[in-house]
Amino acid sequence: MNAKVPVTIARGDGIGPEIMDATLKIMDAAGAQIAPEFVMLGEKVFLDGNDTGIEPEAIDSINRTGVFLKAPITTPQGGGYKSVNVTLRKTFGLFANVRPTRTFVPFVKSKHDNVDLVIVRENEEDLYAGMEYRQTHDSCHSLKVLSRSGCEMIVRYAFEYARAHGRKKVSCLIKDNIMKISDGLFHTVFKLISKEYPEIEAESYIVDIGMARVADTPENFDVIVTLNLYGDIVSDIASQIAGSVGLAGSSNMGPKVAMFEAIHGSAPDITGKGIANPSGLLNGAILMLHHIGQSEAAAKIENAWLYTLENGQHTADIAIDKTKALSTAEFADAVIANLGKEPSKLPKVNAADFKQMHMPNRDETTVSIRAKRLTGADIFLEWNGKDVNKLGDLIKSLGSEKLPLKLISNRGLVMYPNGEHIDVCGDYWCCRFVGEEAKVTGQDIKDILKRITEHDLDWVKVENLYTYDHERGYSLFQGESEGAK
Ligand code: NAD
Repeated sequence: MNAKVPVTIARGDGIGPEIMDATLKIMDAAGAQIAPEFVMLGEKVFLDGNDTGIEPEAIDSINRTGVFLKAPITTPQGGGYKSVNVTLRKTFGLFANVRPTRTFVPFVKSKHDNVDLVIVRENEEDLYAGMEYRQTHDSCHSLKVLSRSGCEMIVRYAFEYARAHGRKKVSCLIKDNIMKISDGLFHTVFKLISKEYPEIEAESYIVDIGMARVADTPENFDVIVTLNLYGDIVSDIASQIAGSVGLAGSSNMGPKVAMFEAIHGSAPDITGKGIANPSGLLNGAILMLHHIGQSEAAAKIENAWLYTLENGQHTADIAIDKTKALSTAEFADAVIANLGKEPSKLPKVNAADFKQMHMPNRDETTVSIRAKRLTGADIFLEWNGKDVNKLGDLIKSLGSEKLPLKLISNRGLVMYPNGEHIDVCGDYWCCRFVGEEAKVTGQDIKDILKRITEHDLDWVKVENLYTYDHERGYSLFQGESEGAK
């Protein structure tokens, strides 16, 4: 008998405790060798006055075990505390969120027959950094932060995953026709890294049409790699069209820690009713058992679970005949009673087929050695006037020979010079000063800011403009030409 593997376990919020109990009972009956360390996370910890929602003992336990099985956590919308899930991903460097999605037709209703795809979602960067600011009375902004090393890690993970699991194709979803620098970086990295895996087909979609295709013809996708927010959306689309958000599990992988969970949330609408489907968390637990080298137990549970689905033993969310729906506990008992049985129509799982994959290493990502040179600054103002030309003439007079005003824009559109035909919109203005590479200094920018302040103009943000090996490191505005100052 294997020694028991220590695993950190959080029972979570909402339906979390109900589905965790069911999952642990099934794992125990299947002979999984785990030694649970229970920790507290989420709503109760916040209400007890801990602003992170994670008790310090939980962090210690996760660091010690390196393996974490987590039930869903409630995150308030709009205001309230920050997402515990996002904090966990960043604290433990869980850069890859892996979400396998399958259909189980005809045993679980779906509009599609043959879906078997895996979404590999970047998990630490993008708009999920949650760095947001109210810039002016009228405007706010949210920072989309990507790094080349982060893009390399996730793209390489997707190809390594495909190689280890015998997958044939990796599809990249991006929006680099609009976000040419950030999504452009992800796409560039994808194209470069795909060349190292010639046996795997690589394709790219603009995210909008890509998601539409996932919804329409999901059977054409195999592995999808994408940024954090797009990945969040496309994985819910995929699991919904597969039959139920209650079915899919996911893993969150980092160099030292791996966290396993259901993809769904804490389902407050059905909490306490005993009707939640534990399958999502159970599938998370199956991924965990493979990860800790207990593929025999993982395959035993998965085959029993597939047999249970084939046998028409379903919870209410997927029951075809709702009058025969099982409760959470009854469903767990059905899976336990079916341990040792195998599906006859759905593909059976073999423990020996599972291969551990190579984990990408951040130390091996590209380090940029390009020459970075200051070339100007975007100075953002809150301004409520109507006459843009008057503002432009004033700001122009505050520039310098070394750092002249090039233009003023509003919401990414050039408004000065030559913007008088456009209706004025909002109170958030960007004044772009561009000089000659390497001649501009921080002091030149400070001098302009001083003059702007002396004229009682309300500057709210400064964004330095750089070139990298003479290549522009910032986007042009609509209506801006490359060279002219
Ligand atoms: P949700 O996934 O909790 O629920 C969406 C719908 O699916 C609901 O109708 C729910 O009843 C149903 N559902 C979900 N899981 C089910 C299950 N196991 N069995 C049967 N039906 C199930 O999404 P939501 O309502 O948008 O979010 C609720 C809370 O969960 C929010 O606070 C959200 O932030 C949080 N959340 C947490 C995680 C996580 O911890 N990883 C993920 C997503 C959402």
